[in-house]
Amino acid sequence: MDFQLIPICSEIDHEMEYKYRSVDICDICSKSGISYRCINCDYSRCSGCHRDILASEEISERLRKGKIKNDIKLAEFKLKEDGLTQWDVMVSNGEICYVNKLMRTYSFEYPYTEPPNNSPDIKTEVRPREQINNIRCGIATVYENIKNYLSHT
Ligand SMILES: [Zn+2]
Ligand SMILES: [Zn+2]
Repeated sequence: MDFQLIPICSEIDHEMEYKYRSVDICDICSKSGISYRCINCDYSRCSGCHRDILASEEISERLRKGKIKNDIKLAEFKLKEDGLTQWDVMVSNGEICYVNKLMRTYSFEYPYTEPPNNSPDIKTEVRPREQINNIRCGIATVYENIKNYLSHT
């Protein structure tokens, strides 16, 4: 029995159509009697192989969907935990995507931002400027004092 390379038609846009031919040989199991043919190339397969392939495609699709569903749940939980209530989880091209409901923006990165109590940051930014002014005042006063002292002697 000769074994050939199996031309599995997984070409994109190649469609299988039902066409029973008792003399043709299945490209997968080499049995005679095919039920499905590719419209775009010579690939054909019997009903048994056709069913197996559809089943395996369905299983991998189901697994993929199950994984995505789980990822969405995890992402939603994380957003809730971080208090990012303005963000929603969506799927774009099979990837988790974060949508900002208020800003109408989206991101593939987790949208973690610092908690909103950023007032200490503003204070620390202001403080050095105050200090510089104080130092300047201090030096000016000291200089003034010295000048006064010198002019008095
Ligand atoms: Zn077959
Ligand atoms: Zn084909």
